[in-house]
Amino acid sequence: MPYLNAMEKKFCTVINCIDGRIQIPVIEYLQQRFNALYVDSITVPAPNLILAEQKDKLVIEQIMDRISISIDIHNSVGMSIVAHHDCARNPSPRVQQLIHLEKSLNFLTSRFELPVIALWVDENWQVHEINFN
Ligand SMILES: [Zn+2]
Repeated sequence: MPYLNAMEKKFCTVINCIDGRIQIPVIEYLQQRFNALYVDSITVPAPNLILAEQKDKLVIEQIMDRISISIDIHNSVGMSIVAHHDCARNPSPRVQQLIHLEKSLNFLTSRFELPVIALWVDENWQVHEINFN
């Protein structure tokens, strides 16, 4: 991967689903998006649902703690929250998943200073950045 040589050796952060089909597409997207060689990965099933609902406080606390390590120790330059097609833990349709994604994005933006983006991975495992404005 010769393009990696041009990247600065910096970190970004992803809060991603555990789904194995989306890991590599998301990592490659974020490497380019933040010009960051390393993507710190925090994975739980359907993080967009967890952060939108704000019910599972223990899991949310664990996610927050892991984000803090990525920011404080690795000086992460940007963060992403991810939702995707055919999610085992969040089977709701795309339109509903995007509502969860927006709520999660708003929550993370309110809690952290660094840039946060929202990603949707479609049925072809293509990654799309979602702007809610
Ligand atoms: Zn999933």
